Amino acid sequence: MSTNPAAQASSAVARARAAQPAWAALAVTERAKRLRAAGLAILLRAEELAQLIVTETHKPLAEAYSSEVLGVGDLVAYWCKHGPGQLAPRKGLVPALELPGKKAVVHRVPRGVVACISPWNYPVSLPMRTIVPALLGGNAVVLKPSEITPRSGAWLVQALHARLGDVVTLLEGDGAAGAALVEAGPDLVVFTGSTRTGRKVAVACAERGIPCELELGGKDCAIVLDDCAVDRTAQGVAWGILTNAGQNCSGIERVAVHQGIAHVFVPKLVAAMEKAARDVPELVTPAQRAIVERHVQDALGRGAVLLTGRIDATDRPLPPLLLARVPADAPAWCDESFGPVAVLVQGADDAELVALANDSRYGLGASVWSGNADRADALAAQLRCGMVWINNHSFSGALPDLPWTGVGDSGTGVTNSPDALAHMTRPRLVVADGNRKPEPWWYPYGDKLVELMRVLVARQQSGGVGATVKTLRALRARMAELSK
Ligand code: NAD
Repeated sequence: MSTNPAAQASSAVARARAAQPAWAALAVTERAKRLRAAGLAILLRAEELAQLIVTETHKPLAEAYSSEVLGVGDLVAYWCKHGPGQLAPRKGLVPALELPGKKAVVHRVPRGVVACISPWNYPVSLPMRTIVPALLGGNAVVLKPSEITPRSGAWLVQALHARLGDVVTLLEGDGAAGAALVEAGPDLVVFTGSTRTGRKVAVACAERGIPCELELGGKDCAIVLDDCAVDRTAQGVAWGILTNAGQNCSGIERVAVHQGIAHVFVPKLVAAMEKAARDVPELVTPAQRAIVERHVQDALGRGAVLLTGRIDATDRPLPPLLLARVPADAPAWCDESFGPVAVLVQGADDAELVALANDSRYGLGASVWSGNADRADALAAQLRCGMVWINNHSFSGALPDLPWTGVGDSGTGVTNSPDALAHMTRPRLVVADGNRKPEPWWYPYGDKLVELMRVLVARQQSGGVGATVKTLRALRARMAELSK
């Protein structure tokens, strides 16, 4: 096999392209049936997959199951049950008075070949969020897994390929392979990864006229109000900071606490983080650890303090870290750290807490922790982000009906939900005209056509029965003019 990324990418796209028409020609119910069988085949090897994920990512077995393997069954079940309805043709509305005899139907058709470029932090659940709805919609998929977790990606594609054939194709390799995949000309790119790479992918797609969906980095904030259930909130926020060792695009990296509760909440958060330490693994690569260490050292150098944890090169794994008194321009506050670290700040009232949470160029998720539903809703409405969780954080990524999405530097994409399926397919319009007469707007133009247009505008302005009667009269006059 060629080691040239361009040749490999072209070959992967060509194989997928060749397989796609026959797959798209199947009834959607048949595609759903085959996807169910493929999903079950994966689930029957659940333990093998979970162990492989643990080996490659170091995440605890419990998380390999909860955030990766379990999602396979849920995704397949959801899309096979609800996807066919979402893909069903819909009747388009055509006004009968002005445009008689016309029937419009909007079909959802596949885009063709979908390139799925994935990161390493959730090497199975993230690509599956794209692969399953894309296939159900009649597309073929080329998966380019992260070079840091190549075996999980390869395992997944092999398992699906065994049941479905070349409509699921693997492209192995690093960033060069990802870039070559875009150059090979797929019909849609679904990219999940860092904001920096996402920008490059967006430019490459724009140059080739390829639509792309970008799911990028995050810097989520948890807002802790003075009426929250303190113990549960401390446990939940600790989980939000530390799950997957903080290598989660919607991990809590900033905690904005109401001044009125800080003296009670902060010690409980520290205790919850310290208790969780035994379940927090080492970061996936030394490079990832170096980013976290750099952010923490920089903050400490500028007067910040650690409320728990320490930076020591000999500590394996890196312990949970909670920073306070971090300057607002420090990378620990502004940039994605992607590790078991959060910055704590305090706010005097709800408005200040919202301003702190919104002080980010990212905008993936945020959470509000409060015992007052109205107050939490009011804050949620002011947060600049794609997802807000009240009294929880991040868990909804596992729910296929709910959109996963962000704003700002977190990207423009949507995965999961009918919105994602809408991007993976295109609307194709078919309008059948049963009108046997010429249309009033056809040639030759004349005074009566202009009069008809004026009457139609007047009808839009005022409506009512009188306007409809005037429209009918103007239409008749125009048809008479046309037939002269
Ligand atoms: P990354 O951007 O380094 O790599 C992501 C993928 O892009 C990899 O497969 C990589 O090989 C490929 N790639 C690299 N250069 C490329 C190029 N020029 N063209 C095409 N593909 C290229 O990201 P990462 O370190 O693997 O993942 C961590 C990042 O992903 C974090 O920023 C995290 O927040 C983000 N992420 C976002 C979401 C989300 O849903 N918003 C989910 C998970 C991870």
